[in-house]
Amino acid sequence: RCFCELSGKPEECCCDVETVDKLNREIHPVISELVTNNFFKFFRVNLNRPCPFWPDDGACALRDCSVSACKEEELPEGIKAEGRRPGNGSLNRKGSTHKTQSNSESSENETVLGEIDSTISDEDKQAFEAWQAHDDAEDNFCELDDESSSGMEYVDLLRNPERFTGYAGFSAQRVWNNIYKENCFKPTSPYGKSYGVVTSKNVDKMCLEKRVFYRMMSGLHASINIHLSAIYLFKGSGFLKPRWGENLEEFRRRFDPETTGGEGPTWLKNLYFAYTVALRAIIKAAPFWEQEQFYTGDYGDDIEVQELVQVLLAKSKTCPSTFDEKLMFRNPASANILKEEFKLHFRNVSRIMDCVGCDKCRLWGKLQVQGLGTALKILFSGHEFDDGKFDKNSHFHLKRTEIVSLFNAFGRLSSSINYLQKFKSMEHGHR
Ligand code: FAD
Repeated sequence: RCFCELSGKPEECCCDVETVDKLNREIHPVISELVTNNFFKFFRVNLNRPCPFWPDDGACALRDCSVSACKEEELPEGIKAEGRRPGNGSLNRKGSTHKTQSNSESSENETVLGEIDSTISDEDKQAFEAWQAHDDAEDNFCELDDESSSGMEYVDLLRNPERFTGYAGFSAQRVWNNIYKENCFKPTSPYGKSYGVVTSKNVDKMCLEKRVFYRMMSGLHASINIHLSAIYLFKGSGFLKPRWGENLEEFRRRFDPETTGGEGPTWLKNLYFAYTVALRAIIKAAPFWEQEQFYTGDYGDDIEVQELVQVLLAKSKTCPSTFDEKLMFRNPASANILKEEFKLHFRNVSRIMDCVGCDKCRLWGKLQVQGLGTALKILFSGHEFDDGKFDKNSHFHLKRTEIVSLFNAFGRLSSSINYLQKFKSMEHGHR
């Protein structure tokens, strides 16, 4: 029942499955509504980046893999302006007027640059921007798409939902294999003997941080596979038209202990684990959301989003504690090296997403890995939120794309837990 046991010590357990199920029943309607708002539904992404690890599998021919990009006129004014701005910072702080923002130099870089504008040359300015970008990249757990690259486009996430696409076989398995075999850490005995690839059976042979890494990946994988089982395409035949719906058989095949060598239930626990990591980041950054405008150019929409975020935070308080990041990277002898390794591995996973051979899966894969990377950036941001406040002069900042991906990734995990409840009640109905 307890899915948080990271070191086997009960005091590290934050929430049990039942507590999170109860919490999610409160949170799910709020996050589901939040992500339908304009600020969150337009995701800027480059789906044309080549795979850096092996030659591309070639264009995916599956109809359900295609992604339709937005036309510029469909975008709200505030978001359109962001696309044109160099640096594409977010940080639309409350307190400044909408007029100032739509004119927009609202990112911190630009504000700082504005102040010293008159005294420095263009060359120095470029050097400053490059230095600032380098500095930001250091904090990141993900390699973000280059904002100036030609393949960047906006996608309406509601029009391109995550669901069954038919993407499977060698290409999909190569990506998952690469994540578990090459990018997750490898368990070893105290004498250095390797236990090979990490699985839910040997994960406890690793230190806390390495376990967290594996469990986040596995939780994401479980979430993706729940979605494709829950929004499955039943092919029509004869008089039966094709339809989308929950496929209990598919779900069983993927998670039943008998069909997964006993691992399925642990993968589901990892889903709950990933959920608490993302939720903890959202709660931790509460003072940051307080100051964030969620700017789209439509005052009514922006206020609605700000209020919904506060509702989400208020509902989250019903879970006394979630993931505890303070337990990680504590050993002074190894903390820094381990943290760097953790970042490197996570960044690599974000690059592997460019190797996913189905555009729709690539879109949601990129978004969710970026969302989890943003959660880690918040959790390991140093002491930004230690006293429950956020200093707006702090160097910490999040781009809109990071905010969008964090909330949408959390929305996916929440929706998976919700579908899991449905599958459980279907199971009971079957017996
Ligand atoms: P896979 O899911 O490919 O798993 C491969 C192996 O990994 C399994 O045999 C098992 O040993 C292990 N494994 C399975 N689950 C877990 C877990 N949770 N934790 C640890 N190990 C596990 N398909 C869609 O229809 N829609 C999508 O939106 C979609 N998005 C995808 C996004 C990404 C990034 C990737 C890589 C794939 C995506 N897919 C999607 C494909 C889907 O995830 C499966 O790969 C595909 O359905 C084939 O499933 P499979 O049964 O071969 O096992």
